[in-house]
Amino acid sequence: MLARAGHRVTVLEGQGTVGGGCRSAELTLPGFVHDTCSTVHSLALGSPLLSRLPLAEHGFEPVHPGAPLAHPLDDGTAVMLERSVPATAAGLGPDEDAYRRLFEPLVRDAEPLLRQLLAPLRPPRHPLLLGRFGLNAIRSADGFARSRFEGERARALLAGCCAHSLLSLRAPVSAAFGIVLVLGAHAVGWPVARGGSQRLAEALAAHLRSLGGAVETGRMVSSLDELGAAAPILLDVTPRQLIGLAGDRLPQRYERALARYRYGPGVFKLDWALDGPIPWTAPEAARAGTVHLGGTLAEIAAGEQAVTDGDHPERPFVLLVQPSLFDPTRAPAGKHTAWAYCHVPNGSTRDMTAAIEAQVERFAPGFRDLIAARSAMDSAEVERRNPNYVGGDINGGLQSLRQLFTRPVARAVPYSTPLAGVYLCSSSTPPGGGVHGMCGYWAARAALRASRRSGPAPGARSERP
Ligand SMILES: Cc1cc2nc3c(=O)[nH]c(=O)nc-3n(C[C@H](O)[C@H](O)[C@H](O)COP(=O)(O)OP(=O)(O)OC[C@H]3O[C@@H](n4cnc5c(N)ncnc54)[C@H](O)[C@@H]3O)c2cc1C
Repeated sequence: MLARAGHRVTVLEGQGTVGGGCRSAELTLPGFVHDTCSTVHSLALGSPLLSRLPLAEHGFEPVHPGAPLAHPLDDGTAVMLERSVPATAAGLGPDEDAYRRLFEPLVRDAEPLLRQLLAPLRPPRHPLLLGRFGLNAIRSADGFARSRFEGERARALLAGCCAHSLLSLRAPVSAAFGIVLVLGAHAVGWPVARGGSQRLAEALAAHLRSLGGAVETGRMVSSLDELGAAAPILLDVTPRQLIGLAGDRLPQRYERALARYRYGPGVFKLDWALDGPIPWTAPEAARAGTVHLGGTLAEIAAGEQAVTDGDHPERPFVLLVQPSLFDPTRAPAGKHTAWAYCHVPNGSTRDMTAAIEAQVERFAPGFRDLIAARSAMDSAEVERRNPNYVGGDINGGLQSLRQLFTRPVARAVPYSTPLAGVYLCSSSTPPGGGVHGMCGYWAARAALRASRRSGPAPGARSERP
């Protein structure tokens, strides 16, 4: 955004490779490509910004699995979230009509809805549409799923998607995440990046270079003083890091507000090199890129509540991705990769390997025998690899009702800080976590607006996604 508007842009990245939560590495054995963080790029495809950048020209190719999601149950079947609403609804028994009534109108208007949701709080351009979404989204996932659906299959499907929020499923607004994820599955799909998520980050870096920008890796910045007179400065960090970077420059009131910012639960993640595909009891689960393991709404809600209360559930809700089934470039011929994580209390160092693998084994007996190698990261290790994941929180802070739009603090322009020319552009700003680029987009717009007020950069032009 800044480079397109005529600014000279340099990205300083602390790690050896660009990408942050969008990187890949050989975490287990040679020839096995693992995404260290994100794999499923529905938000990138649905993003009003990323969907319009020429990323394909720079090597980003989304690969769509046969179905976005499978949710196996103990009866040996799997609830399938398909690309089509009617095909999904057909698998939901008594809730077929209710599912169609809920999602068909939202999917019809997916583009304007996503445009409104992937943005800071602003007057709605489509109030009726937003109202239809908001009445359900503001609710707790538990209350929403129980009131809209009567069967276990639809309730379980929604519960698994809502659990991505990292909130208790009894918390207000936890329904929103599930509804947006399901909407994304129907509207744009849940693809993976051929060759690994690193390709998406590299495509963005290549696009920046094509606009004259530069990227310097291995440049961990520890103080704003290191940045000299550069302006504007956009910081892809969370509030805690901003306090450290700014030293004593921040006004006390703003610093105190940043210090009150709340981080959410962390994740414990496993990456596996596998000798074969996961042997799901429900064979249809092999058509899905993502698999949710946690059984019923009641079980998932209890597990997520335990995490919110600071405990480690015995049977955690597990999110699993099996990308090599659809992208064979990620593993040697006949071999596979998969990852899974569960939520844990922030900063937890408890080893959840056995609990996660027991959940996979429950729905895919024989899975453990296929493990050729594994890499494990507790939430402290997740933060060590990326300082933005404070205590293992992958969303840059709790996405509660209070912090959804007023992240990191309540300000007319949440991206701005009291320091002239210094902006926040991480997932600690609206619209929050996920690989959609929209925090950066809105931060850049705020910076461009301010710099236009004080005189435009050479060659500057107006930018809209
Ligand atoms: C295991 C896991 C799975 C996930 N799965 C998905 C998924 O499938 N789909 C999805 O959409 N999202 C997913 N996410 C979430 C997504 O990755 C994050 O929400 C998103 O990357 C956050 O973007 P960000 O810009 O805030 O931070 P990051 O992407 O974390 O980028 C911050 C960057 O800033 C660098 N940095 C920080 N401080 C400094 C400093 N002082 N100096 C220099 N550099 C610094 C970091 O090294 C990092 O590269 C997942 C995350 C994890 C951890």
